[in-house]
Amino acid sequence: MTVSLGMPAPVPQTVAPRRKTRKIKVGSTWVGGDAPISVQTMTTTKTADINSTLQQIAELTAAGCDIVRVACPTQDDADALPAIAAKSQIPVIADIHFQPKYVFAAIDAGCAAVRVNPGNIKKFDDKVGEIAKAAKDAGVSLRIGVNAGSLDPRLYEKYGKPTPEALVESAVWEASLFEEHDFHDFKISVKHNDPVVMIQAYEMLSERGDWPLHLGVTEAGPAFQGTIKSATAFGALLAKGIGDTIRVSLSAPPVEEVKVGTQILQSLNLRPRKLEIVSCPSCGRAQVDVYKLADEVTAGLEGMTVPLRVAVMGCVVNGPGEAREADLGVASGNGKGQIFVKGEVIKTVPESKIVETLIEEAMRIAEEMGEPVDGEGGAPVVTAKG
Ligand code: SF4
Repeated sequence: MTVSLGMPAPVPQTVAPRRKTRKIKVGSTWVGGDAPISVQTMTTTKTADINSTLQQIAELTAAGCDIVRVACPTQDDADALPAIAAKSQIPVIADIHFQPKYVFAAIDAGCAAVRVNPGNIKKFDDKVGEIAKAAKDAGVSLRIGVNAGSLDPRLYEKYGKPTPEALVESAVWEASLFEEHDFHDFKISVKHNDPVVMIQAYEMLSERGDWPLHLGVTEAGPAFQGTIKSATAFGALLAKGIGDTIRVSLSAPPVEEVKVGTQILQSLNLRPRKLEIVSCPSCGRAQVDVYKLADEVTAGLEGMTVPLRVAVMGCVVNGPGEAREADLGVASGNGKGQIFVKGEVIKTVPESKIVETLIEEAMRIAEEMGEPVDGEGGAPVVTAKG
């Protein structure tokens, strides 16, 4: 059967227009303005271990990471930066706390950008001129990264705790110092672990200037809690057009942060959707094990890069409707599965063949949509057994 895939794709709808921000360069990637919202994360390897760090960066790049940050707490880490910056496939940002000398080392090392924390770099305000000059001469951008956990002591004293006003005042003050030195290539973050405080802080900050904003809920927690906190907070802001780059912080491997970040953007049509499994939650009407079916189909199609929507439905109530709306779907019942492709039933198979059939059909459609065939860069692998 020939499946028509020549329909023009509808223009994806986003919730709100992007707020206008100035555009800055982070190495080869633009942030702000009309640049796509980028996903960032941070490596967990010792930066001084160049091979392990580059290996992790490669894995993060494959997962969809656009920009990566590396910690630089020691001279050995600073010494590793030139090799990492030169060999990474994506722009590298050096994350600097406490010691201003590493800001200059990172700029000299060829890093795409440097994150500075005004709250814990000694006498930071006195160093702004020198940092601005070095960054400007090297074409390196900065992030002014204000964090609730390391708020400038002066602001802590004034507000008593890291309120949204305190975070914003710290950020705006530091931004003004850089701007006095005619340096404008920076983005800002005002992170807090409480999504409510964080949302308020970014909303206030977005009213104060056109700086590109890096969104983050800091120390968001283990994967489940952190995912929810980040998705909620980013969703609230992105739905108002606020946010130019995001970093999900999880107590979990950074590749998970990248997956969550890309999924948040895809959910809001801020990044092209890839594989999407539309599966029902199951209920007393289910005539098939929906959880198992959805898991097996998801696993079988892992790595697919085309925007394929696959519906996995447990019974005939909503099953045929959802299956029809998807590129491919199954509606199960009476020990059988009706397989739909682009709204038409193409066959009915026994329950034991549902997963195998869906994966075969998905791969066939994906190939027609331009998915690389097996052996050419991460094509899906069939893992389910009939
Ligand atoms: S599709 Fe059927 S099994 Fe799934 S939740 Fe709806 S009614 Fe229940």
